Amino acid sequence: MSLIVCLFVLGSHMSFASDALWVTADTSYHLRASELGGHIWVPLSELSRAWEAGLEWDFATMRVTLTSDGHRMEFVPEDPFFVVDGRIHHLPVPPRMLKGELYLPLDLLLPYVPFVRGKLKWKKGEVNILGVSIEERANGTLIVVRTLEPLRAEAALASGWLHLTLYRGRLDTTAMGSLRPKGAVREVRAYQYSHSAQISFRLKPGVSEYRIYPSPDPKKVVVLLWRRPKKPRKQEMWAYRTVVIDPGHGGRDEGAVGPTGLKEKDVVLDIALRLAKLLREELGMQVVLTRTEDVFVPLQERARIAVNGGGQLFVSLHCNSSKNPKVAGVETYFLSDAKTEDAREVAKRENASLRFEEVIPSLKEDNFTLKDILTDMLSDQFLKESQKLAACIQEELVRGLGLEDRGVKQAGFYVMLGTEAAMPSVLVELGFISNRREERLLKTSAFRRRAALALFRGIRNFKEQQERAIALQGGR
Ligand SMILES: [Zn+2]
Repeated sequence: MSLIVCLFVLGSHMSFASDALWVTADTSYHLRASELGGHIWVPLSELSRAWEAGLEWDFATMRVTLTSDGHRMEFVPEDPFFVVDGRIHHLPVPPRMLKGELYLPLDLLLPYVPFVRGKLKWKKGEVNILGVSIEERANGTLIVVRTLEPLRAEAALASGWLHLTLYRGRLDTTAMGSLRPKGAVREVRAYQYSHSAQISFRLKPGVSEYRIYPSPDPKKVVVLLWRRPKKPRKQEMWAYRTVVIDPGHGGRDEGAVGPTGLKEKDVVLDIALRLAKLLREELGMQVVLTRTEDVFVPLQERARIAVNGGGQLFVSLHCNSSKNPKVAGVETYFLSDAKTEDAREVAKRENASLRFEEVIPSLKEDNFTLKDILTDMLSDQFLKESQKLAACIQEELVRGLGLEDRGVKQAGFYVMLGTEAAMPSVLVELGFISNRREERLLKTSAFRRRAALALFRGIRNFKEQQERAIALQGGR
């Protein structure tokens, strides 16, 4: 009975017009929040969004878990005890359920939150510009402005500043000013005018290009900044010393599974390790592996490992799968728009790894924005080389494995979207795990050894071809 009264009181006094401001070094968020009894109550779903934390309800125990960066926070509605990374803590007032949402007293909870550092400001403002984030990408610096409603934006570049004007925009100038600069941005300033808001970014020297992207989410203004790339000297372009091998899937993402239970993630890891050994020992190449054990690695993280590892070639390893158990053979992809329905199907299946990523839906939307941007930015600098690398690998695979030649194909793979702008990139489908005969082969170490050797020869042939070409050009 007392519970019902308590909820009623809470409900009647909560006003949802207010919001709280969550400010960290990198970004700021407005949270839907309410003030009651001197505390700031925020729905758990809002916190999960702001902190980019996974949210899971166990309806049997009524326990809710927030996870991020390897940390866990667990709450039970109306229970003042909560758990952070296995340690029990106590709140003076318990989390409360209201209209199917769990509200937490954020001001009290803040000292225990392990995911993020930041401070909370109570705000009853009338802002419609909710926050700005600055992210470094392989191809430039991405500025994302989140708004409460669609706002028209214009940008201008002048004397080393990018001035972004948001018509009808209203913002919190202190919150914007406390943004930590990142990437191409050195400083951020915000101005409120009577009919517009302006956010100005002081840029590092050399940033000469920008574009406002039409975001699929009308409540986001997306600006990409980049330097006009210097043309790399041919010698540099063709000195392939570091290769990135990307064994697909891993951990909870098993990839395709064969009729007797063989898992794609295990096959490709074994072949990747064999291939890495050959490249290191026979060619003296540096090899960066995106994973060396059975762990889950998000697709964007794989691209980041490749780019940060100084990769000059990117080879992603997979096994194919089809509903038709008769379909068999090997094929190699380079990144482009899918040209056939089959290729689209393969890309769809491999991109499905995204569903294993603990990201909230709004972040997935960001991925789509990023995809559009990267596709747009895609120079053809590496396209020809990707195609050549794919051809070299496919030729050796067909020769070495004796499987049906399904050819070199093109399709859009997420994992390569992040690397294609930085290095020639291919994705190899090493036979159909859904085909009984090929599953049996993929199980044997003899076949895996031959697959690694064929991949090794393909990469070596590509490297030698390119180096011969530069030698010939140099001699002219
Ligand atoms: Zn795969």
